[in-house]
Amino acid sequence: MVTPPAARPHLPLRPLWICRTCAAPWPCATARLTLCHEYAKDLVALRIYLCNQLHDAAADLHKLHPQKDPDPKTLFDRFLAWTPRSSPTANPDQDDGVG
Ligand SMILES: [Zn+2]
Repeated sequence: MVTPPAARPHLPLRPLWICRTCAAPWPCATARLTLCHEYAKDLVALRIYLCNQLHDAAADLHKLHPQKDPDPKTLFDRFLAWTPRSSPTANPDQDDGVG
């Protein structure tokens, strides 16, 4: 029995750091959407989680390609630069009682 592709989580395949489902560099677009949804109320926790993933990815990719270290800026852009700056629901109380 095969799990339908839509039901498979887009998780990293280590040490390659590609998506187990769509084979794009992780976090793929679906993984990013899923992470934003999961961490919508705690973007700091999302960034801490992704910092840890970046750290592990840098170590894994260095072991795979010792002669060609991963570019730090590329890894930063891939793992962290895309995260939302603030949650649209960060201050829901500010809208209460208005209007
Ligand atoms: Zn994916």
